[in-house]
Amino acid sequence: MPTQLTPHNNDSAVPWHELAARVLSGGAPTRSECLSILQSNDSELLDLLAAAYRVRRAAHGNRVHLNLLINAKSGQCGEDCGYCSQSKVSEADVPRYDLVRPERILDGAETAAGRRAGTYCIVLSGLRPSRGELDALAQVVAQIKARFSLRICVSPGLLSESQAVELKQCGVDRVNHNLNTSRGFYPNICTTHAYQDRLDTLGAVRRAGLEICSGGIVGMGEKDEDVVELALELGRLAPEAVPVNFFLPIPGTPLQGAGRLDPRYCLKVLSLFRLANPKCELRIAAGREVHLGSLQPLGLFPADSIFVGDYLTTKGQPPDEDFRMIRELGFEPAIDG
Ligand code: SF4
Repeated sequence: MPTQLTPHNNDSAVPWHELAARVLSGGAPTRSECLSILQSNDSELLDLLAAAYRVRRAAHGNRVHLNLLINAKSGQCGEDCGYCSQSKVSEADVPRYDLVRPERILDGAETAAGRRAGTYCIVLSGLRPSRGELDALAQVVAQIKARFSLRICVSPGLLSESQAVELKQCGVDRVNHNLNTSRGFYPNICTTHAYQDRLDTLGAVRRAGLEICSGGIVGMGEKDEDVVELALELGRLAPEAVPVNFFLPIPGTPLQGAGRLDPRYCLKVLSLFRLANPKCELRIAAGREVHLGSLQPLGLFPADSIFVGDYLTTKGQPPDEDFRMIRELGFEPAIDG
């Protein structure tokens, strides 16, 4: 039975630990409990983080999964995702290039291995991959697999089931395709394709036997209810990895969002995604440095994964600072990817 939570009352003890215990024994938070997490008082934050950490520790111990990303094809996209600097409606000054040469992708793999990243993420702009791009990916992924012990995640846009099977057969381990927000809020951020298209791709990826990486972006003007809806949708899909991006408005893009997010709110968001997705690799993705600010290390109590290096078109902090943060927390990079 779900526990009745009363998170708005400062005087009442909020049983976040009871929620953690229920999640650890196979239960799930209710919709209203999820909302309570986002709207909880700051005075409860350490208790909430402790509950999320119990769940994180059961699945991942104190390991931190490291990921390195290459923007393998940039700009020139015909879609109108309002948050994206590479969309057709963006006037942002970002590089525009076709799929880079295989040597560049291999160099990135070498950097990933050198930084002890378990997963190398190859990201292509655009709605869906071309025949030539899929062939090029197949060749380069085979070369990477022959040289490095890396999990390969590709982010190629919408996929059919036969395309997902092709990726599986060439050695891809995981496909990233973010839901980004709730179904209800989706038309506010994109009109050229539908939320259902994204769900269909995730279904194709799963049927092909690939791991799923799917998450969202918080801070685009959505309501708490939309964040909850996304967390619950992902809980149903059970992706192996869930990246949570905190929205960074990029000059020249239409969506300017809510400005800088409260870092304590970001920690509540991460706790929500952990409690709704207890076993996933929960990644603090873009916006980590800007929005969490000095509270960044606390994010690794609910989350167990970060990028080391830059994001798609924005800078990350130097990898040495990431390693120092992990070391000072008493955590360790995951050696199993
Ligand atoms: S489909 Fe991808 S690359 Fe294109 S605008 Fe949307 S997020 Fe950006």
